[in-house]
Amino acid sequence: MNSFAETGLADGILDAVKELGFEKPTTIQTKTIPHLLSSDQDLIAFAQTGTGKTAAFGLPAIHLTNIEDRRTQTLVLCPTRELCIQITKDLNSYSKYIKGLNIVAVYGGASIETQIKALNKGAQIVVGTPGRTKDLIKRKKLLPGNVERLVLDEADEMLTMGFKEELDSILAETPRNKQTLLFAATLSKEVMAITKKYMSDPVELFAARINTATENVKHWFYMAQARDRYEVLKRIADINPNVYGIVFCRTRRETKETANKLMQDGYNADALHGDLSQPQRDEVMGRFRKRQLQLLVATDVAARGLDVNDLTHIINYNLPDDAEIYIHRSGRTGRAGKSGTSIAIVHTRETRRIKEIENKFGIVFSKKLVPSGNDICTKQLYTLIDKIEKVQVDDKQIEPFLPAIYQKLEWLSREELIKHFVSAEFNRFLDYYKNARDINVPESQKGGRREKRSWDNRGKTSFSRLYINVGAKNNLTPARLIGMINEGLDSGNAEIGKIEILRKFSFFEIEDNVEAQLIKALKGQDFEGVSLVVEASQERPAFASPPKGKSAKKKDYKKMRDSRWGDRKKRSGSRDSRNRKKW
Ligand code: ADP
Ligand code: MG
Repeated sequence: MNSFAETGLADGILDAVKELGFEKPTTIQTKTIPHLLSSDQDLIAFAQTGTGKTAAFGLPAIHLTNIEDRRTQTLVLCPTRELCIQITKDLNSYSKYIKGLNIVAVYGGASIETQIKALNKGAQIVVGTPGRTKDLIKRKKLLPGNVERLVLDEADEMLTMGFKEELDSILAETPRNKQTLLFAATLSKEVMAITKKYMSDPVELFAARINTATENVKHWFYMAQARDRYEVLKRIADINPNVYGIVFCRTRRETKETANKLMQDGYNADALHGDLSQPQRDEVMGRFRKRQLQLLVATDVAARGLDVNDLTHIINYNLPDDAEIYIHRSGRTGRAGKSGTSIAIVHTRETRRIKEIENKFGIVFSKKLVPSGNDICTKQLYTLIDKIEKVQVDDKQIEPFLPAIYQKLEWLSREELIKHFVSAEFNRFLDYYKNARDINVPESQKGGRREKRSWDNRGKTSFSRLYINVGAKNNLTPARLIGMINEGLDSGNAEIGKIEILRKFSFFEIEDNVEAQLIKALKGQDFEGVSLVVEASQERPAFASPPKGKSAKKKDYKKMRDSRWGDRKKRSGSRDSRNRKKW
């Protein structure tokens, strides 16, 4: 959706929105507004702060309000007094041209009498913190009996702040047939519990932050033993001969050590950390900006002052303790319309932390195999040949030297000459990687969270396994799924692996280099009235309906587990049984 006008919101609302300078709806608004205007199905939206949630629920709530009726029709609950005031202010500005709409904020730490007076005048929309709202309901000053829409804004925050009981009590007082809208940035167990308890068959939406660079960033992780960390870093640098990036370390010491090792091993690298004097820091940053350094090894704090727009890679030598910091780091690549890759080197016990970042920020990591010696040599060789082919030759400058050189190399044939040139440049890699071992963690030692598999075999395709929230119940068939994939990728070329259609959800494998593109293309698309959720398959699909109650659901779960297990066994053996049909 490209304009607010297409949503069908009332003219008065459109005018106000225009005055606020909103040119077009944000992702979450594009998804939420039409839903709220046309359906009373419950809704769960996972979205970061800054995605425009207030207008996402606020504009439709204002539009749907019956002005003639002074009773409370929309109740918005949010965690703090500040937020309460902010939301009320925003709603008032959206409804500037709607006469007769009364919006009242109720929160603790302020006179309850004043709030009661305001409520007594009749408030169609009430925005409250859970404690004060509950109190006013108990005193029968706020009457929730006609509430048509209940909004739980920042539901995760409300729960971590300990408002579970207040929410339970308020929810119990509101009519059963109301529409419940839950907004949260994270998907905690507690949030899931609330959605299970109070929401029926909700649609689920996802949205990324406005203005994040992450759209252009691919997230990869390499898994190896902690002791092989440096070796993995070297291989990453070697398989990316044109890398221009920051390697983030946790401590000054680790920064120094890593940078020293890289320098000794012949890389264009240096360190940036807090032990350097200001002139030293400026000097290192200057060389990095001028691209005299390809790899800058830095701590988070030291890298703060560095603004470089065209980094190709961010390498997390260690995952940061805080998921937010990962997002900060990775946001340093993929800027100014360019694409970038954020790489994390993780050890076997860190898969949970990868998952935590994925859930918290709605991003998807692809697991990559640490390149083999052979991979690296091939890549380096072709890069070298490419360089030789494309190098600018300055005839005038080298002319005087050439006769002597021709004479010296006269005895070599053309083929031998090429061999010599290539070896001169390339022996370093050949020697180093001659007997390189595989430093990927053997299958049996893995944490086993993912069903993603990649194969190192050259020429064969690596697949990612994805979860999708529709299944046989939604009339999904393999043919329709394949159609959907091809349409999403706008091509019929991607390899599709095994497909498992279950009742309420399904799994399929897709060539892993189009995984991110496909997830993005399908996310939020409508399939038979369901807003699609596609994500890297996990032990238990995070957004699938829980295995409670009806036996059909339980069966689905069992089947899923069984099929996954079966799958695993099959794959560690031969791959011939894989279904690679394409329609
Ligand atoms: P959230 O609740 O998701 O954190 P807000 O609703 O507070 O986000 O919105 C964040 C900011 O974005 C606010 O300053 C808001 O005015 C602005 N905003 C919201 N929707 C739009 C839009 N469609 N276009 C431009 N700015 C918007
Ligand atoms: Mg908000």
